[in-house]
Amino acid sequence: MSCRDVIAVLAAFVDGVMPAPMAAELERHLEGCEPCHAYLATYRKTRALGAAAARIDMPGEMRARLRRFLAQRLRTA
Ligand SMILES: [Zn+2]
Repeated sequence: MSCRDVIAVLAAFVDGVMPAPMAAELERHLEGCEPCHAYLATYRKTRALGAAAARIDMPGEMRARLRRFLAQRLRTA
C-alpha cells in the first residue's frame, strides 16, 4: 500500500468502516511511515474539531466560515 493509497482510504479507516484485512495493511504502513502517521493524527484532530463544532448551535454563516477554515488547515497541513 502506498502513501497515496493510505490518504485515499483514510476516511473509511477513521470511521471504522474499512474491511479488517485492509485496515491491518494500512496499520502496517502507518507503523513504518512517519508522514502518513502525522497525517492521520491531523485528520483525527480535525474530525474531532468538526464533530465538536457540529454539536454547538451556531449561526449558519459562522458554521460555513469554520468549515472553510478547517478545509484550508487540512490542505496546508
Ligand atoms: Zn506513507
